[in-house]
Amino acid sequence: MEPPKGTGLPVPRRPTQFANAENASAPRGQSGLSPSALRAPLAAALFSALILITPPADPHFRLCGFHWLTGHPCALCGMTRAMFALAKGHVVEAVRFNALAPLGFAMVFSLFLTGRAAAIAYRLWPAGLAAFGIYGICRLVLA
Ligand SMILES: [Zn+2]
Repeated sequence: MEPPKGTGLPVPRRPTQFANAENASAPRGQSGLSPSALRAPLAAALFSALILITPPADPHFRLCGFHWLTGHPCALCGMTRAMFALAKGHVVEAVRFNALAPLGFAMVFSLFLTGRAAAIAYRLWPAGLAAFGIYGICRLVLA
């Protein structure tokens, strides 16, 4: 709200959170890097880990609480192994672990996109989550 003109009162300025920042639109952490600038290195680190590490195809211990409680696979069962397989280019193996692995891979890595590409990729999420819900029900019924 501006004071009436001619009152001599100073016009309040909007506080700027990043007064001396070159790009005030992006918040910066203590390192001086914006979260957007960290996305590419984080994505590269995740992708590198997925390529370098190979979990056992048949784990001795399952992390899934749903599987542990019911004995049936949930919609996400096998997704960790599938992500490692997909990063190495083993698509058939990944789909064997979880049929929606390519979709899950795209959804996870869409989180690292910025700008217009992120806005487009985020549209994938509602449909992707619905697909995982339906897949989970199918896995439960057909198992
Ligand atoms: Zn599971």
